[in-house]
Amino acid sequence: MFVTRFAPSPTGRLHKGHAFSALTAWSAVNVTGGRFVLRIEDIDPTRCRAEYEAGILEDMAWLGLDWETPVRRQSDHLDDYGAVIESLTARGLLYRCFRTRKDILASIGDAPHGAMEAARPGPHPADEEARLLASGAPFAWRLSLDRAREALGDAVWNGLSFVEEGEGPNGETGLVAVDPEAAGDVVLARKDTGVAYHLAVTHDDALQGVSHVIRGQDLFEATHVQRLIQTLMGWPAPTYRHHRLLAGPDGRRYAKRDRSVTLAELRAGGLTPQALRAELGFSFDD
Ligand code: GLU
Repeated sequence: MFVTRFAPSPTGRLHKGHAFSALTAWSAVNVTGGRFVLRIEDIDPTRCRAEYEAGILEDMAWLGLDWETPVRRQSDHLDDYGAVIESLTARGLLYRCFRTRKDILASIGDAPHGAMEAARPGPHPADEEARLLASGAPFAWRLSLDRAREALGDAVWNGLSFVEEGEGPNGETGLVAVDPEAAGDVVLARKDTGVAYHLAVTHDDALQGVSHVIRGQDLFEATHVQRLIQTLMGWPAPTYRHHRLLAGPDGRRYAKRDRSVTLAELRAGGLTPQALRAELGFSFDD
């Protein structure tokens, strides 16, 4: 069955870019039949707020979309993610990382931009780890690419791929080879919450039977590490459809951090959902 989803994080009000993404996913279900899932990705307690979650539901309804209920809210399921972390730990695939962002930055020195994200600091020496653990210092769990490669074997490791039915930022389409090392020894459990984005998103896509991940090209690179996690966990491989990112009047893409005009503001200014849908290239009757 065709199952897709819109998975916003309630860190602000939705803007036109989100509307485009939600409409793209929802319309795909309309064309093929299937299920449309809305998922609230609120595992970051420092940035997510309940009022933004309410705003997402309000904006989606205003756009004319409907979705399955109950809506999965990730913060209600931290135990699920904890269980995955435990199973990966039991398989020796994760290591504790007590380092701070500052430590990692210092250790990569003048490495090019992006190195922070692709950091591979490696496990602490055993005596240091024991001392830090005894001190009660907080730690993250990182995926060990070395151990993951051993676990999967070179043939699987070198043959990882995903099907792209949309287009990556550099025109990637069709069968895309995965670079499992692209994200480094990625953090799968943060120090504060015990979970991180890549783990929660792959777990939930599998749990909810998502057959098609439809999302913006800004998440194309994330697919590499997500395919690796899916393979390690034996979860099915969804098909991916990354879509272009919508540009605002100034030619720059919509993003929460730029305070792009929100749907709520546009609505207050008199914009109708019909007009917005038409502007974004979607036409359907309410
Ligand atoms: N929650 C993520 C975000 O708002 C999207 C996750 C995804 O579509 O994979 O950026």
